[in-house]
Amino acid sequence: MPKIKKSIRKILFCAAEAAPLAKVGGLADVVGSLPTALKNQKIDARILMPAHSVIALKKIGAQKLASVSVVAAGKSEKVVIYQARVQNITYYLLQNKHYFIGNVYEGDNCRKYLFFCRAVLVALPFLPFRPEIIHAHDFHTAPLIMELSRQARIKRPGLILTIHNLQHQGWTENKTAAEFGFNEANFPAVAKSQDGQWLNLLAGGIVGADKITTVSPSYAREILTPAYGQGLEKLLRSRRHDLVGILNGLDFKEYDPEHDELLAWNYGRRQLRSGKALNKKVIGDYFNLSPDKVPLLALIARFSNQKGLDLFDLKLLSALAKKYPFQLILLGSGEKKYEVLASNLARALPDKVRTIIAFSEPLAHNLYAAVDYFLVPSLFEPCGLTQMIAMRYGAVPIVRATGGLKDTVKNNKTGLVFKKYEAAVFIKTLETALRLYYQHPEKYQALQSAGQHQNWSWEASAPAYRKLYLSI
Ligand code: ADP
Repeated sequence: MPKIKKSIRKILFCAAEAAPLAKVGGLADVVGSLPTALKNQKIDARILMPAHSVIALKKIGAQKLASVSVVAAGKSEKVVIYQARVQNITYYLLQNKHYFIGNVYEGDNCRKYLFFCRAVLVALPFLPFRPEIIHAHDFHTAPLIMELSRQARIKRPGLILTIHNLQHQGWTENKTAAEFGFNEANFPAVAKSQDGQWLNLLAGGIVGADKITTVSPSYAREILTPAYGQGLEKLLRSRRHDLVGILNGLDFKEYDPEHDELLAWNYGRRQLRSGKALNKKVIGDYFNLSPDKVPLLALIARFSNQKGLDLFDLKLLSALAKKYPFQLILLGSGEKKYEVLASNLARALPDKVRTIIAFSEPLAHNLYAAVDYFLVPSLFEPCGLTQMIAMRYGAVPIVRATGGLKDTVKNNKTGLVFKKYEAAVFIKTLETALRLYYQHPEKYQALQSAGQHQNWSWEASAPAYRKLYLSI
């Protein structure tokens, strides 16, 4: 009889962030929602992450499982292992009073996550769960993959590393990594700097993983090229047979305008226009704008060079506003340079632009519900969730053709897409969008409704993960 491969069921996600416990960006959305989708695939996926001090352990009913000692930076550190059940998913949370202070990326991230990886290695035998696969996410947990890959395959779990963003690779000085027990001698040559002083944590994980994934098919192709490979394209090419791009899904329960508890007004598909008008009025009143008369645009993002803020050229925008009036809300925080740029735009165009430097889930949800167009003019975008959320809420996305944006938005069918990363090209696309809104409302509405009918839930992608887990 042919042998039937046992189906793998126990997966442990190791990651820096997971919604709803702690969120900074899309990584949290994905780590927090994929385990629920995998349940339908008969996979028990649990999450192991730091108990960042912003997480209210009591409030989520976290129970202490064990306390262990972790040697790091010449000291013995106490790490308490907690277990919690949140939205029917089991979390293991590692608490330490020195390293996991504040929010996800506060402090020195290399030290914080090298410590986390070291703590995970100590804590694993104390968990009441024997994972068949460890699924790590981004550079923060890549050292774990590298370290475990040194064991014989028969003795260790399968190892998967998902790259959510190649821009962040975790370059660390040799001596810093050594403080946490990650010795330079164990890193592959491709993960070392030319001067021999620095280590690339992500590259170490890429070499060690059995399989590597990234978050959209287009990004999986792009990162093999110098334009998008961020210096790791050669290494990634050498592993291309083990690299797969799986499009992120959206938590369709969380992002559902009909039931979203954060919205001023809920609306189903049939009330799209009236529902959006009500939400638009609430936002208009709140920000002292008058969007009932003009199209309302928004951008919600981490403010970094990735997100296309450099394309918001003041002169071109004010000229456009004279031709086709619009109002624009920018919500985000991050690099100072972009916070200043966005604030300056609002100051220069006080009757047209509002900038809110903050991370606010309630405001974000209400903006998705209120706006007519949603802007994602990214320089690069591994997947991007905001354009999918926007479509679900009936806001038409205007995106640059890159990575996951290319895979999810079809020009003139579900949104507007431009290619060249240039302010003039971006503003020209905005002009096309505004003209459409003013002069061809029926065409605008067709885009809106086509976007709303797309299925961005995990339904399509969860089976691809199952297939991957079974292939190891
Ligand atoms: P990235 O992971 O690069 O930050 P994604 O598009 O994959 O980008 O995911 C961003 C997620 O973070 C979305 O859920 C988006 O709504 C949310 N988000 C980004 N900035 C803010 C903000 N300032 N306030 C609230 N939510 C935000």
